Amino acid sequence: MARAGVLKNRRTPRKKKAAVRSAGMRHTVIARSSGLSIEDNRLVGSNVSFVETPNQGGALAPRYLVFHYTAGKSATSSINWLTNPESKASAHIVLVVLGRDGSITQLVPFNVKTWHAGMSHWDGLSGLNSYAIGIEMDNAGPLTKVGGKYQAWFGTLYDEDQVIYARHRLDGEPRWWHAYTEVQIQRALELAQLLVRRYDLKDVIGHDDIAPDRKRDPGPAFPLEHVRASVLGREEEEPERYEVIAPTLNIRSGPGVEFPSVAEPLKKGTVVVLLEKRDRWNKVELAKNGDIEGWVHNRFLAKI
Ligand SMILES: [Zn+2]
Repeated sequence: MARAGVLKNRRTPRKKKAAVRSAGMRHTVIARSSGLSIEDNRLVGSNVSFVETPNQGGALAPRYLVFHYTAGKSATSSINWLTNPESKASAHIVLVVLGRDGSITQLVPFNVKTWHAGMSHWDGLSGLNSYAIGIEMDNAGPLTKVGGKYQAWFGTLYDEDQVIYARHRLDGEPRWWHAYTEVQIQRALELAQLLVRRYDLKDVIGHDDIAPDRKRDPGPAFPLEHVRASVLGREEEEPERYEVIAPTLNIRSGPGVEFPSVAEPLKKGTVVVLLEKRDRWNKVELAKNGDIEGWVHNRFLAKI
């Protein structure tokens, strides 16, 4: 997977790098003020609880951290299921559940194996349950648009402000996904940083990385590349790329319809690179022509 080097080929790497960094800044703040620690393979800190699950395996010497989404209704319903002995056969048991309010529930100590990965391969290894800590994020997963709402497979409807439209890198078409909350992403970053340091983990990956033929979690709504780059201390992260999904999209000199267009409207399918993110507007440059940059309404972009 090409994760580095993209910025090196750019016309003005210094300027662009700074802009991309500021776009991702909101995810990095909390990681420095972490209140979490690990004692005796258990998390200690505010908003952390331990609910022992009977679904435990043998000893685990973790090398990787794997992120998942629950595709469930709530953290509580997921925890109830994950700690139910009957769920063991259908196997999606993890070490930690991260709620939408940032609460963390640990189900087994970090040195004990669980069943979160299933059939999986990574880095020449098979069966990642034996090598990985799994973090399950409370998130409904992919959604279907129904009228003005967005429906999960279990029936719950979500509002527009809780969804994002994005293409999973393994899929052909963009679709709707349940968004993660800001506090959830910050806690995930904090937790990943702590676990990587404490257990000297080699990589931070998604379930979709280790089981791409059958899994899509944590999905494009989760900034896994950013978490990985921050936690592993990689110098550069790959900038976010988006595809235009409207038939045409105006590209303007500022973040608002009052600003004039800077070029011909972008056509559907045009790929742009994120330079800066604001509430409803993104500053982007064309992937194929870095000379054209400007602001576009992010409602008409799908992350790729
Ligand atoms: Zn998973």
